[in-house]
Amino acid sequence: MKIFRNALYRRHDARLEMYRGRLVPCHETPARLDHVLAELARRPVGALHDPVPDDAGLDAALAAIHAPRYLDFLAGAWDEWVALDPANAGTDILPAVWPVRGFRADVLPESFAARIGLFSFDAGSPVMAGTWAAAREGAACARSAALAVAAAERAAFALTRPPGHHAGPDFFGGYCFLNNAALAAQTLRDHGAARVAVLDVDYHHGNGTQTIFYGRDDVLTVSLHGDPRTEYPFFLGHADERGEGAGLGANLNLPLPRGTSATTWFEALEAGLAAVAAHRAEAPLVVALGVDTFEGDPISGFHLRADDYLRLGERLARTGLPVVLTMEGGYAVAEVGVNVVNVLEGFMAAAG
Ligand SMILES: [Zn+2]
Repeated sequence: MKIFRNALYRRHDARLEMYRGRLVPCHETPARLDHVLAELARRPVGALHDPVPDDAGLDAALAAIHAPRYLDFLAGAWDEWVALDPANAGTDILPAVWPVRGFRADVLPESFAARIGLFSFDAGSPVMAGTWAAAREGAACARSAALAVAAAERAAFALTRPPGHHAGPDFFGGYCFLNNAALAAQTLRDHGAARVAVLDVDYHHGNGTQTIFYGRDDVLTVSLHGDPRTEYPFFLGHADERGEGAGLGANLNLPLPRGTSATTWFEALEAGLAAVAAHRAEAPLVVALGVDTFEGDPISGFHLRADDYLRLGERLARTGLPVVLTMEGGYAVAEVGVNVVNVLEGFMAAAG
């Protein structure tokens, strides 16, 4: 297992997010990756690598899944914010107004407050001085992991934060800014894979990934997640979303009720893997790996235990597919390390 570690992950260290009507300390913290790295030091399942330095290649890959005006905004958002008022340097940026149904999204407003609303969907994802650098380096890790698998590596892991699977073509949210799983899938497509599948096992629906590929039949998107009728991100992730146009049939959502047991969750995983196999068995598999399905997770509601992550890794290896994993959610901070490394260790044990 090649592990591409985002060395800039601490640069995104935001203070407060809007959560249930209050500004609370961010759930998505650098400590999450500290715990994974500490556990990897204890159980080294693979060597740590820096991403391949290739700015031009990364820019082209990002432009294939994100809108140019979104990337431009995100890259310059912090400097713009501080230029508005030097005192802003002490405060993270949170949007507070959004263009919902009936408003126009085609006209780019001049107002900074309007543009950050246009390019986001919640107030839980603060942008701060290091957000762009950390997110971009994470995208480089995802791309490098995909390139390693394209070059015949059996498995590679993009160990990064902020996560990516909620970020869509032109919006951030859900702690996500650049969609690492989508970037990995696109990179595999651009390097010889005719058909790719993305399997999202985070507790929350991978709405960004679904939206990016919704009209395409070359990338199958499968997501197992908390039912959006009660669980974040609420407005996408229902079972009747199957893709559109050429992509009709290339999206599978498997929503599960809050409180779902490991037994039921693994049954849903089998359904997801059956769809992956039907899509085309030799395609590389991208796994959006969130471990917020853990029973102790503070913002989620499934009941997986530490050993279940070993089983998940074993099951992924038994698909026989080459696999790229991207690090997504998981907020029971101390246990994130054990659970993530359990997936990797289970995979390596079963992959032989
Ligand atoms: Zn999640």
